[in-house]
Amino acid sequence: MANLKDGVYQGQGSGNRGEVKVSVTVKDNKITDVTIDQQDETSGISTAALKKAPKLIVEHQSYNIDAVTGATISFQAVQKAVKDAVSKAGDPSGLDKKVDLRNTAKKVNGEDYRNVNPDDLQFEDQTDILVIGAGAAGLSASIAARQKGAAVICLEYTSSYMLSDMTLSGGYYNAGGGTSLQKAQGIADTKENWNNYLKAVGQGYEDADMRETIVEHGAEDYEWLAGEVGVNFQEVQEIGNEEAMKDYATPAARSHLTVEKSGYGLSKPLYNKAKEVGTKFIFNITAENLITDENNNVVGVHTNKGNYKAQSVVIATAGFSRNKEMLKSFAPDFAVGESYGSIRQMGDGITMGAEIGAKLKDMWMPIANSIGTQSGDNVCIGPLCTAWTKPYIWVGTDAKRHFREDMYFEYASKKIASLDQGYVWLIFDEGMANEMPAAFSAPAPSPHLKREVEDGYFKKADTIKELAQQINLNPEVLEKTIKKWNNDIIKGEDTEFGRQKDLTAFKAPFYAAKLAPSTPDMAGGLAINTKAEVLDNFDKKINNLYAAGSTTGGWRGMTYPGCGMGITNAVVFGRIAGESAAANVKAEADTSSAASQS
Ligand SMILES: Cc1cc2nc3c(=O)[nH]c(=O)nc-3n(C[C@H](O)[C@H](O)[C@H](O)COP(=O)(O)OP(=O)(O)OC[C@H]3O[C@@H](n4cnc5c(N)ncnc54)[C@H](O)[C@@H]3O)c2cc1C
Repeated sequence: MANLKDGVYQGQGSGNRGEVKVSVTVKDNKITDVTIDQQDETSGISTAALKKAPKLIVEHQSYNIDAVTGATISFQAVQKAVKDAVSKAGDPSGLDKKVDLRNTAKKVNGEDYRNVNPDDLQFEDQTDILVIGAGAAGLSASIAARQKGAAVICLEYTSSYMLSDMTLSGGYYNAGGGTSLQKAQGIADTKENWNNYLKAVGQGYEDADMRETIVEHGAEDYEWLAGEVGVNFQEVQEIGNEEAMKDYATPAARSHLTVEKSGYGLSKPLYNKAKEVGTKFIFNITAENLITDENNNVVGVHTNKGNYKAQSVVIATAGFSRNKEMLKSFAPDFAVGESYGSIRQMGDGITMGAEIGAKLKDMWMPIANSIGTQSGDNVCIGPLCTAWTKPYIWVGTDAKRHFREDMYFEYASKKIASLDQGYVWLIFDEGMANEMPAAFSAPAPSPHLKREVEDGYFKKADTIKELAQQINLNPEVLEKTIKKWNNDIIKGEDTEFGRQKDLTAFKAPFYAAKLAPSTPDMAGGLAINTKAEVLDNFDKKINNLYAAGSTTGGWRGMTYPGCGMGITNAVVFGRIAGESAAANVKAEADTSSAASQS
């Protein structure tokens, strides 16, 4: 029980972009008001979390709340600031009680929704088309289906459209073949050239029909996003394997970047468009099972809030990069680190499809074989991407370097996975720590990595010996490794592994972070055809079921083609799924009206 003196107290906590400062009013041992006095968090992404936090803290009388807010770090910063403030009022015991407000999916008493008689079920609502997931594929599908005249309900696990992988993304859309922006920048490209490039990086691991569908629609869908949807693109960049593949296709810039340099620049206009055309959204709801009738036709979705009936269902729930059990089964390298993708990448849609006999494809395949450093609920991609150009080294649990670090991330991820423990320690100095925060928007590292160090994700020390002790490495060996590196740099050559880039010597203070294979999502899942119809294990379509985005497999080949391809796949097949689902509704309506006339 708290023992606090009435009054108004100030406190602060580290957020993404510096200190969040609050004033807390205490009366009769209770927190009666929390006001945010100062904050520099990322606007848009953090706005909802900063609004929500004070209310929840007062309502639950706790600064230890887990909630889905879309900006965990900002939300936690307010809680830390409140803790700091009330600690000044006396004994805050009890105000740290754990409150879990996350919406966790539960199976309902093992009930089976397969091959049931729909008339035996109670439905909360019914519509033409249910779209599961309000991300890149789900929003695109909803718009396309509405524009074909179908009624659409979109079910989303989180509390808004702001929490998808698309919103977290860097805001790139990949398209070749001569988009208006490519032309404006004087970039020569053709559909044939783009197809040749995708074929070269795919190495036959991709589904050729899906690749050709992406090439056919990618540029057209870019114009749709930039025109009708209102996404603001600022420039097109070359961020892929184009140069390495120049014998197969003429290199061309294809990564179209939004003005916001964030996926927010895509998700906001897509959501607004979906609302404008009349999509009904239900947030904070978890789709759990597909409901099928006696003939295995999909007739609806069972959720944690009841059953919903529809003539077509589109699964757009992304992949399973946060589901450790699925990773252990299908992609064990990624079970060592943490996903830096969005919160509900639990493979729900894939499991739902598999339960009714859908075929699974390329389940081992990540969206991008990347590497990540944990910095909270999310893995912070910032440190590692800047690590491609800044002074740093990687050491194994033996405190020694094992390979040159300046390699393409797809290759690095596999090398790190091949080490005994499947991870390395990233060792770097103040120079890199200072540059990281400016490089990334979401999830962004804090200035000087203050929050990451405070929260224990990154280690910091004035000497190598002290740093080694913090991360349980042999101090003598680590000192020797750094000394060798620094001596080599003075001579201008990495004599151990021949690294070419960023030969910069280390200066105190030193930092360490655990770096492991990581991916923003997986690229394997439900098998679909070019109409986005979900296929069964005999390659026959499952009636009334469609899927798009990272919840499907086949769209990516051996190597990730370049920045933006995950979203392009989701938008292209999302639109196709919406149109196919609407055509299915119409076909059923035509059949039943013909039957009633005969
Ligand atoms: C840091 C980062 C950077 C990235 N950068 C890029 C980039 O620049 N360009 C690019 O192309 N790709 C990028 N990606 C990947 C890209 O964001 C994904 O490929 C893309 O968003 C996939 O679209 P989607 O519709 O399949 O999934 P999402 O956009 O994630 O949407 C899926 C939605 O389904 C919801 N959902 C899940 N389960 C359920 C359930 N059971 N019930 C109801 N709803 C559910 C989720 O909450 C989510 O909102 C990045 C990803 C990250 C994390």
